[in-house]
Amino acid sequence: MSEPSPTELAQPAAQTGPIAFLGLGHMGGPMAVNLVKAGYTVTGYDVVPAALEAARAHGIATADTAAEAVAGAAVVLTMLPSGKHLLDAYRGAPGEPGQLSQPGKPGGAGLLAAAAPGTMFLDCSTINVDEAREASALAVEAGHRAVDAPVSGGVVGAEAGTLTFMVGATDEDFEAVKPMLEVMGKRVVHCGGHGAGQAAKICNNMILGVSMIAVSEAFVLGEKLGLTHQALFDVASAASGQCWALTTNCPVPGPVPTSPANRDYQPGFAGALMAKDLKLALNALESTGVAARLGPLASEIYDTFAAEGGAGRDFSGIITDIRDKSEQQPRGQA
Ligand code: NAD
Repeated sequence: MSEPSPTELAQPAAQTGPIAFLGLGHMGGPMAVNLVKAGYTVTGYDVVPAALEAARAHGIATADTAAEAVAGAAVVLTMLPSGKHLLDAYRGAPGEPGQLSQPGKPGGAGLLAAAAPGTMFLDCSTINVDEAREASALAVEAGHRAVDAPVSGGVVGAEAGTLTFMVGATDEDFEAVKPMLEVMGKRVVHCGGHGAGQAAKICNNMILGVSMIAVSEAFVLGEKLGLTHQALFDVASAASGQCWALTTNCPVPGPVPTSPANRDYQPGFAGALMAKDLKLALNALESTGVAARLGPLASEIYDTFAAEGGAGRDFSGIITDIRDKSEQQPRGQA
């Protein structure tokens, strides 16, 4: 297959080269559906048979192997759990030739070797910045093009096609993938070169984790001081305490009727995902030597929250932990 040019990739959906979509989970499944609805030719693949069945039920053509999905693809889009999954899939593992890396199975050549030269490797997973840079470098070394484009907006945004994409790419590659990202999202931001998309994502989520803890501590303090939730909300939402954790994802029921607190902290954005993203932020803080104190503390707090039953609850449920622990704390003792 000849190398797709940037202009070919930027053509309207029907003329864009085929997309291999790997990782048809909570996010990848609905994202692939939106691409199909917009007229893109998508072949999906997932290592879990149930994910493949669900994808077929939603009108996505699937392949039996990753190699089959990638054959003839102009774009290899990945939406995988971690950087290790991504790098293993890109490289393959030593073993039988002709097979791609799959958990629990020895693999041969990976995706990079299986794809035609000049294929666009577009990764939308949330992974370490260093891993994103490594994955892009491997793709480019193998004669391909590479973009990191992690998302925010969750499963609801994936289904509605309203995700935000944070993109690390060359200018040319950004323009090439932008039309297909606009099908899956409402906001597409070019953050810089390789790895910049992941960097923006984890910096943003570190702000979010820290600010949710701060808002939650403030509400529990307000309770102890005799303030109603509504009074504190009315003041802080129009004052310098204003932030998304307060005004959209308010951790107490009442002031923002759509926030997860009003439905017993059903996510939303699950505690396990916040713990994961803060771990990625912590790794980046350590590797860059930033003298941060709140980021690492937020990571520790959300690790505990996730381990103690909060993994499947919205991350704003952290307020119930703070409240419970405040009841156990003798007054006047820090
Ligand atoms: P998920 O676990 O539901 O889906 C991941 C899928 O990848 C699974 O179906 C798994 O079987 C498949 N997979 C693993 N290895 C594979 C391989 N080698 N080849 C093909 N498929 C493979 O996870 P998710 O919630 O869809 O999240 C995907 C990514 O998006 C993660 O990096 C996550 O951090 C990020 N993210 C998730 C959300 C969210 O709200 N769920 C929001 C923003 C970002």
